[in-house]
Order: sequence, then structure tokens, then C-alpha cells
Amino acid sequence: MHIKDYLKDKQPSIYKTFSNAISTNQLSHAYLIVGDYGTPLKETAIYLAKSLLCDSPNPLACENCITCLRIDNNQYADIIIEDGSKGTIKKEDVDHITSTFSKTAIEIKGKVIYIIHLVENMTAQAINALLKFLEEPGKNTYAFLTTENESRVLSTIISRSQRLFLKLTKREDVIEEAIKNNINKEDAELLSFVYNNVDNIKDKIQDETYPDLKETLINYLKTLSNVDDVLYFVESNLLEKINSKETAKLFIDLLASFFEDAIRIKNNEHIFLTSYDKIIKDLSNALPHIESSLLEIISLKSKIDLNISIASIFEHLSIYLLKE
Ligand SMILES: [Zn+2]
Repeated sequence: MHIKDYLKDKQPSIYKTFSNAISTNQLSHAYLIVGDYGTPLKETAIYLAKSLLCDSPNPLACENCITCLRIDNNQYADIIIEDGSKGTIKKEDVDHITSTFSKTAIEIKGKVIYIIHLVENMTAQAINALLKFLEEPGKNTYAFLTTENESRVLSTIISRSQRLFLKLTKREDVIEEAIKNNINKEDAELLSFVYNNVDNIKDKIQDETYPDLKETLINYLKTLSNVDDVLYFVESNLLEKINSKETAKLFIDLLASFFEDAIRIKNNEHIFLTSYDKIIKDLSNALPHIESSLLEIISLKSKIDLNISIASIFEHLSIYLLKE
């Protein structure tokens, strides 16, 4: 399902609010799109930005005109995207936006748009620079900010923006729809923990690192019965495959989904990873303290951002999971 149809079908509130703002020419200069982890925040921000520039909007972007296609290919000069999912956004990044936009628009549409994905990942200096810019927006300047964690966004940013909320789709519905879209059940069940929509699941499956990551995860889970085995696996195999912060975070997320299901099995609840029910049963029987292990796994993601080495994170975790 394309982002346009996704917004129309799954997020009718955003779709209507924004369509109405365009039709009545009552756009805000800044939008803050709020959604849980897994919702397509960045894609939504780009699509709404595109809707302000599209050659034949109806009333949102058509996705087929030359302007829409140029934006998709990063060939449109008057859109700048800063992506906080790839690392902290610094003052220089915001300065890049403000200095570019202090000149007049390059493109014929005359509008300049910046997108800051995950504003919670900005340094204090970057936020200060952004606030100054938000206070006095140029006439044809528009901002699309996103956040997965509204409580970490400064109230001064919130008060200068109009908020739009992405709602989570039920995980069982994401799985069902993914399977209808020819995604195999195993991947649908696994990736629906991390991605709350079929498009992002499809993208991940096409990512060349995904098959290896999945295989490494399953093998890691299978060695989780003996400390020596699992530490050997971490050193000889896992660290080679988990070679970036991004893969490490995805690995941790997927690991957490197994532990969540192991807790569900213990409580006789329905599990999501039905393709892996044997592994989950084994985990729930073999591991000594699944509940606290899940909390430990979740806490690791912030450690990765703190630049603690991936090797020490996984060694520590493996020992933790098995300690009596
Ligand atoms: Zn278009």
C-alpha cells in the first residue's frame, strides 16, 4: 500500500485535516507529526511536503508528476531533509537549513520546505537555532517535524507547530495485510513488531542485509542455553553481522519480540510469531527470568546511542539472559 493510500485508509484524520488546510489555503508554517515507533513518520512528512509542491494535487500529492518524482529522487532544490534516525542533528545541520533558506527559493514554486525527522534527536544548540527559525518563518517557508516521543520535545517547539497524530494499526491487521501483499508469514510476523505498515515491511525485506540478520537472530536464540556457546556465537558470528548501530537496533527489537511472545506463552496468551512457536516455547522453558530479560533487552537500544561498543553490549546481554 502506498503512503497516499495508507494515509487515506489508515490515518483519515491526518488526511482530512491536511487536505482541508490545502483546499482552504490555511496551512501552518510548522507541523509536528507525532507517532509511535514503527509508524511511517518520515514518509508521511515527505508526502505532506510534496503535497505543497505537486503539479496536480488532488488535494494531496499525485505521486506521478515531474515534481513529485523529482522530490522522490532528491532532485528538488527547495526541500531539505535532516534525519535524526541516522544520528544526532547538530547546530550545523540547522544552520545549513537557515542559510539555504535565507536566499530566495530556487524552484519556480517559490516555496521552501524543511523536514526534520525525529526532533527529539537534536542537540540543545540545534534546537535553539531551530526555535529562532520557527519564531519568524519566511512567508513561503514550511517545516515538517516528526517525533516518536512527544514528551521529549520542548514545549516551545510544540506551541509553534500544529500537531498531527499517526495512530498505530493493530499488529494482527498489519500481519494480515502483509500476507495479502504476498509477504511470507514468517517475515510478516517478525517485522510487524518493528514496522507498523506494509510498505516499510516490504522495504526491509528488500534490504540485502535482512536475510543475514534474520538468520543470525534465529541462530543466536538457538544457542541461548549455554553461556559458553552463546558467547562463542557472539564473537565468531554475531559481531560480524551486526556491524552498524542501525542493524544492532533492529536486532535488539526483533529479539525483544521473541521475548514478548515467550512471556505470552507463559501466560497462555496468543502469540504473534506463530512461525517460530517452537523457538519461543524453548525460550520460555529454558530461560530463568524472561520478564526482567525483556526489560534489559529494551534498555540496550539507548546504550547503542551512547556509543557503548556493540561487542560489550551483546556479551553483557548474553550473560544476563542466562544467569540464574
Ligand atoms: Zn504530483
